[in-house]
Formats: sequence, structure tokens, C-alpha cells
Amino acid sequence: MRITRIEAIPVAVPIHHDGPPTGFGGVIWSALTHVLVRVETEDGRIGWGEAFGYNIAPATVAAVEQTLAPLALGRDATDIAALIEDLARHLHLFGRAGPAQYALSGLDIALWDLAGKRAGLPVAALLGGGGRPRVPAYTSLLRLNAAEHVRKACAKARERGFGAVKLHEITIETVAAAREVLGDAIALMLDVNCAWRPAEALAMARRLLPYDLRWLEEPVWPPEDLAGLARLRSALPGMKLAAGENIGNAWQFRPLAASPALDFLQPSVTKMGGISGFLKVALQAELHGKELAPHSPYFGPGLLASLQMAALFPAIEMIECFGVTLEAPFFGPVGLPEADGAITIPTGPGIGADPDPEVIRRYRVT
Ligand SMILES: [Mg+2]
Repeated sequence: MRITRIEAIPVAVPIHHDGPPTGFGGVIWSALTHVLVRVETEDGRIGWGEAFGYNIAPATVAAVEQTLAPLALGRDATDIAALIEDLARHLHLFGRAGPAQYALSGLDIALWDLAGKRAGLPVAALLGGGGRPRVPAYTSLLRLNAAEHVRKACAKARERGFGAVKLHEITIETVAAAREVLGDAIALMLDVNCAWRPAEALAMARRLLPYDLRWLEEPVWPPEDLAGLARLRSALPGMKLAAGENIGNAWQFRPLAASPALDFLQPSVTKMGGISGFLKVALQAELHGKELAPHSPYFGPGLLASLQMAALFPAIEMIECFGVTLEAPFFGPVGLPEADGAITIPTGPGIGADPDPEVIRRYRVT
């Protein structure tokens, strides 16, 4: 079954959230640019994937259309393992992380979507699992920078039924405010996006102990400093650590999986190799006794692919649900949290649903 068309479709959907304007990477976000990857095969079937976009979307689009597509067009879509391996060999010179890898991730997800559609099964069932109907979600709030805003956003999260909340704050004061509003029954995670040098991270983590964090995410700058994470973890046995969203591929997860530094591995399906890459990390997590906390602040096929992984792997306790609301969702209510803060895992063939063509038409950037 030959691949006849590959298209990268950047879609910038305006967002709202409970707080003042903010964003990541030094950019205030008014919209989130998802890079959808649309793959067509000679039988007319269409598969949907997602390659990491947001602030890097223009580079990702170019990587899909100008670098990856010419290599993949005309190839057999049914032997995913062989095709992805071959493409990875061709692309490795141009980055085992970053846009080349994001592009490969988007294609991989679309190929799995196509495989599920051909078989008439959701990806999780295709892979021999899929018995889990729903997965708890946690809301992943943007950085709000002030205790007052954190308090309000946490109160809203509680009203919405979430059993867990993740902050992206970097002060003790904001974490204390969240814990005060959430009480003891709601799990609290803190992601500081590599804000601290190792010594500062240790000092801050010590001060965070009273707030009973489910995990502390990426506490150390730079993200490659696994030894720094290991020192922190061994100095504070009560503080569980999570990391992995900036890891480029399954092989690069190997030292993280083997290290006592981390309790939670965080593969990001749109960044590190799609579903094929995620499967390889999930196996490492199991063999090393780690939990999986997928990085999935997405609303497109990347979220649905992550949900398929949650249907497959009990090591995924919760799914990350980005704490913003899209002006128009890609899949209607599919993939969104319900009144009890859990998400029903879609059981349609492939990744579970196709994006709404009207949303793509309205918000497509190019
Ligand atoms: Mg994170």
C-alpha cells in the first residue's frame, strides 16, 4: 500500500485559560499552532499524525514537507517498522532530536492511524491491548506567576473535577497557594521546565517537601544533566522526579530509564518518534520499574495517540491535559476530560477519530 501524499498542516487555534496572558519559550500565547500530518495511501485512505509545533511550527512544517516527504512518498505504508527505520537512517545526519525527529514522529502516528483504519481497530487493540476504557487526566496549567492567579485556576480545576493538577511555577509561594486551595485529596505536580542549576534545585526541592508533590518535573538545568538529577533524587528520597519531554528518541531514553534519578519517564509522542518510539520507551519503563507520565500538552492527533498508549500501558497513571481551552476543538468532545476529570479513550479505528475539517479550514495558517 503506497504512500501517495504527505502534507504538513499548521493549524493555529486561539486559546483561553484561567489567568493572565502567558506562554512558553519567551512567547505569549494567544493561539496554539498544531502541525497536523496528513498521509494518504493509494487506496484513498487518510491517516492523521501530529508533529511537534507551537513556537517551532514553521521549522517542523518545512521538515515534513521538504525533507521527509520526498523520502517517504511512494513507500509501503504497511511495514511501519521498516519504513521508519529506513527514514531514521537517512535523517539521522540532520538531527536525532528536533524538527527532523518531530516530522518522523508525525508520519509515524499517521501510519499507525492508517494501520488501525485498515484493520478496523483502534491502535491499542491492534497492539494487543485496549481494555482500559478511560484514563484519569490532570490539568496542566500554564505559568501564572502569581499566587493569586494560581489560587483561582486551582479552584476552577477542582470545580471541573480534576483529581490532579500540574503547575508550571517556580516559586514556593505559588505552590503553597495551590496546595492550600486543592487540599490533600487532589494530587499536585510541579514542572519547572529546567529552571534551576543543580544546587538551587536541591535547595528549592527541600523547601517543596511539605507540599507533597506527586512529582517534581525537570528541576535541573540543563535537561541533559542526569547526574544532577540523580544527586537531587538521592539527597531527597521523598521527592519523586519526572523528565523526558526533551529527549529526542527512544535510544536517548536508555540512560534515563536505567538511572535511579527518575521515577517517571515522559516520552512525548510528537517529538521522540511517534507511537513506534513511545512503545520502545514504554518497554524500557517496564523493565526498569518506572512509571510513564507521557508529555501530551496537545489537542490534535498527538493527544489521541497518547490516549491509545494509555489504553495499552497500566504504567500510565494519568494523561496530561493542557490547561487551556481551544476556541474550537479538533475532535468535538472526543479526547476532552469529562465531569470527573477522566478522559474516555476513543475506540474508533486508528488513533480513534479524525480532526474536524471545518476546524482545519478555519484556522489553517498556510
Ligand atoms: Mg514538562
